[in-house]
Amino acid sequence: MVEIHQIPVLADNYIYLIHEPASKTTAAVDPALAGPVLAALNEQTWTLTHILNTHHHGDHVGGNLELKARTGCVIVGPRAERDRIPGIDVAVAEGDHFSLGEATAHIFDVPGHTRGHIAYWFPESDSLFCGDTLFAMGCGRLFEGTPEQMWRSLGKLRVLPSSTRVYCAHEYTQANGRFAVTVEPDNQTLRERMAKVDELRRRGFPTVPSKMGDELATNPFLRPESPAIRRSLGLMGANDAEVFGEIRRQKDRF
Ligand code: ZN
Ligand code: FE
Repeated sequence: MVEIHQIPVLADNYIYLIHEPASKTTAAVDPALAGPVLAALNEQTWTLTHILNTHHHGDHVGGNLELKARTGCVIVGPRAERDRIPGIDVAVAEGDHFSLGEATAHIFDVPGHTRGHIAYWFPESDSLFCGDTLFAMGCGRLFEGTPEQMWRSLGKLRVLPSSTRVYCAHEYTQANGRFAVTVEPDNQTLRERMAKVDELRRRGFPTVPSKMGDELATNPFLRPESPAIRRSLGLMGANDAEVFGEIRRQKDRF
């Protein structure tokens, strides 16, 4: 089992520290900045050994080079974006396993937000680090991919155990939820979740990680088969990828 420490940075990013106590291995997931990571490591008395990047955007790799210079950590990132990940040492892709001491991450290719985006799943710790692919009640924008691609990517994540903790890279939950209720206004579970999210945010608490089971029940981007959503979009006969694509287009304009 690993310990996970959450660091809020910039306007709405989360960096995660994953600590595997048996080997004293510690990884930073998507370090936007070096300073807050160094401060948190110091506070936890952990030593950085790895960086795990999900994709090449600056708010996910901005701290790579400074952290590597200061700690000598090994940088792991997506093979399909290896030219765009500063300081990358180990390039991984779908089907690879990466060991963090005694903890093992399974790698998924999840293109859509970017061409080479990957996700790290730690089955023994029931934890998924999915960057900007799946968000609490939302999903990433399609900067470098098609709706079909993103839908296939989300399909790899939504079949993980419903107990899986979803560690996404942004605190977008409240805005995502406001959109979600317009797509599926009669989803009572969604409304109840939204009330809890509003309360957490009012008190300044994170809404991340979430549970995959809650995403399956409330995240419209994982629910294109829902008859209520299809009815509200007027897409009764469309396939799941088409419904997904329409939800994504509406969110872009919301
Ligand atoms: Zn991004
Ligand atoms: Fe991001």
